[in-house]
Amino acid sequence: MASECIFCEIIAGKIFSDVVYEDGEFLAFRDIQPQAPNHLVIIPKQHIASLRDLTEKEEDLMGRLILLASKLAKKEGLDSMGYRLAINTGDEGGQAVPHLHVHLLGGRKLNDQLG
Ligand code: 5GP
Ligand code: ZN
Repeated sequence: MASECIFCEIIAGKIFSDVVYEDGEFLAFRDIQPQAPNHLVIIPKQHIASLRDLTEKEEDLMGRLILLASKLAKKEGLDSMGYRLAINTGDEGGQAVPHLHVHLLGGRKLNDQLG
């Protein structure tokens, strides 16, 4: 756990969140400021600051993370409509919380533009 990391505090149960999925490796919860009707944040419990910090060691973890995102999209009922996964990285990538996370967005027609 990284000190003063809000997502590590959510994992530790020190900050409340609306958890939709948890296992030994990952946690998924509803975004506090949803940008779409369905907006989940999916995180590894391991504190990795961003995509920039990945190493070969995280190859399998990242595969499982994306697979989990697709399963949660299905569980949210988004499969037929479609949805978007986003991983913001660094300041100019729009990353506010420095703990690697996948946004799962859906439930409305999303903007075609990515940035
Ligand atoms: P980023 O901009 O870093 O990619 O996304 C961080 C996301 O985390 C934002 O969409 C923000 O609304 C969400 N977030 C930040 N703090 C909290 C919190 O305490 N609880 C929940 N549920 N979401 C949070
Ligand atoms: Zn963290």
